[in-house]
Amino acid sequence: MCRRIGSVILSLLLLGLVFGCKPAEKPAEKPAETVKKEVHWGYQGEGAPEFWGTLKPEYALCGTGKSQSPIDFNKTYETKLEDIQFFYKETPLRIINNGHSIQVSYEPGSYITVDEETYELVQFHFHAPSEHTIKGNFHDMELHLVHKNESGEIAVVGVFMKKGKPNRIIQVLWDNIPQEINKENLVTGISVNASGLLPGDKDYYHYFGSLTTPPCTEGVNWSVLKTAIEVSEEQMQKFRLVMGVDNNRPVKPLNKRFVLESR
Ligand SMILES: [Zn+2]
Repeated sequence: MCRRIGSVILSLLLLGLVFGCKPAEKPAEKPAETVKKEVHWGYQGEGAPEFWGTLKPEYALCGTGKSQSPIDFNKTYETKLEDIQFFYKETPLRIINNGHSIQVSYEPGSYITVDEETYELVQFHFHAPSEHTIKGNFHDMELHLVHKNESGEIAVVGVFMKKGKPNRIIQVLWDNIPQEINKENLVTGISVNASGLLPGDKDYYHYFGSLTTPPCTEGVNWSVLKTAIEVSEEQMQKFRLVMGVDNNRPVKPLNKRFVLESR
């Protein structure tokens, strides 16, 4: 009798052990209205540029800012502007598809001087079609060379790109675009120099604006070169194919700003 009771208890204990080890039940799904779907910024749908300012508190300037970029170069003031001096060196190729653009990171040591200030080249990336327009007209693409000075202030040099001869640097870049999004490709043995993406004539439009992507930070020193560089039709198509969507923010009002134009 005692033994039987003992074996019953043992069985119960084992049963308890077995059921105790069952994986925890999945918690019931929250009702739909309390689940707030996080919308990531982009160029179409719920994350499109017209909604950037409401996606996150830190993106507010995208909606309320009065000095936003890009802009249309329509009314400009021709004046004598100091030439932008470019001191670009080669950099080992680090390239990423961040889902918004193809971006190349630059190692320290390359810089420009503009407005008597030195800004170090941090990265460059591309948009298609162009973000800035000239009297309402788009270029095929636009390159942004993003620089920072010691105080963290940003200066961007924009370079328009148009259909023409293939560009050698672009070919090297496009040949090394990583398959995966957000995975940087450090290409051993290949260095690039962003000087190969600049036109000969470096006259430019100059104004103060913002980053053209969230958080749309203002106080950005913009210089957009007037002369476009050439890229081939195939090179343009390759970029558009990889991005799958136009990655240009529509132009913003000039408001109380002035655009200077060097001559
Ligand atoms: Zn950009």
